[in-house]
Amino acid sequence: MSAPIVEERQIAGGTPATIRRPPDIAAVKLAYPLLDIVERAGVALRRSGSSRFQGLCPFHADHNPSFFVDVNRQRFVCYGCHAWGDVLDFVRLHEHLATVGEACAWLTGTPQPTSRRKMSGQASSSQRERRWDRLTLQEQLVMNAAGALYRDGLWRNATALEYVRGRGIPDWVIRSCGLGYADGRSLEAYLRKRGGLRVAEDLGLLRRPEPGEDGRPLRERFAGRVVIPEIRGGQPIWFIGRRPAGEAGRVKYITPPGDKPVLGFERAIGRRRVYLIEGVFDWLTAVSWNLPAFSTCGTDFPLDRLGWLARAEIVFGVLDADTAGREAAGRLGAALGRRWCPIALPDGCDLNDLGRQPDGRALFFRLTATAKRTEVQA
Ligand SMILES: [Zn+2]
Repeated sequence: MSAPIVEERQIAGGTPATIRRPPDIAAVKLAYPLLDIVERAGVALRRSGSSRFQGLCPFHADHNPSFFVDVNRQRFVCYGCHAWGDVLDFVRLHEHLATVGEACAWLTGTPQPTSRRKMSGQASSSQRERRWDRLTLQEQLVMNAAGALYRDGLWRNATALEYVRGRGIPDWVIRSCGLGYADGRSLEAYLRKRGGLRVAEDLGLLRRPEPGEDGRPLRERFAGRVVIPEIRGGQPIWFIGRRPAGEAGRVKYITPPGDKPVLGFERAIGRRRVYLIEGVFDWLTAVSWNLPAFSTCGTDFPLDRLGWLARAEIVFGVLDADTAGREAAGRLGAALGRRWCPIALPDGCDLNDLGRQPDGRALFFRLTATAKRTEVQA
């Protein structure tokens, strides 16, 4: 490896001096093949063509593998969140680094990959993950601006507003949860004027366009999506974006890169009976019923961070009745023991569907009353 990028040079006068030179980007790329770095980041890939590999995208909540690595071109692309680039772009995005130079430094500071697959499985535990509950002041100011622009955008966009109302979400929940809509222009325009573009790109709210896309240099990640924020202390610390109905082909939910926080944390912490809800709109239905509910926004819930639920006596679980939901229920039951109390909804019906039925709320509370706690093994 070409690690110490330092050269001796004779300065006029005869004193040797050490000059630091920018890293040789081509050499770094050659030394760190994209596929190895992607797999080392914990992304499981399978072959999908002579030079292509496919897997779940690490940069958004991906359920259908939409992330591709082309080993001939040494490029990756995600058809869900539109992340793309080479190995340095991957590292920059995955490690939340600001520049290609920082990505080079990060790569050359890590052990060189020995052979393919050998390192895979060593997931990103040692790597820095963004903690959304620990934003800097600059980051929080950008998040606040984004939250306000999105909120404004929802009331201006009749289609998006009708979509949310059509899912049975009352206006008071739209307001109290700070739901929004990203029009794809306002945030970029606002930050271009006021500053903060780079911070917003680093946070994953803006992204660089794909090759062939013309126009402005930065695009809004959530453009054209209904946006649901996680609010802590009255400020949005994270967003998840839902594509409106009728736009098949686009990934349903996207999130910015990094660790997913619990949605609705402040509604549930410290409560004796809490509701763990898999789906985002199901959670909004629970909020409309004034339940102390939080959403895991999917089934990949970090079981090593359940400490905040210690005061809960019962954790009611509302998970989808699919394979992933059943597996998650098993894991949660094992971790939460007698606290865990899964609720089985009627076949083919999620909580949001139930919320749109006239007797749905009453039915849900009947199911809650008869739900059985996990039996503790002696
Ligand atoms: Zn993606």
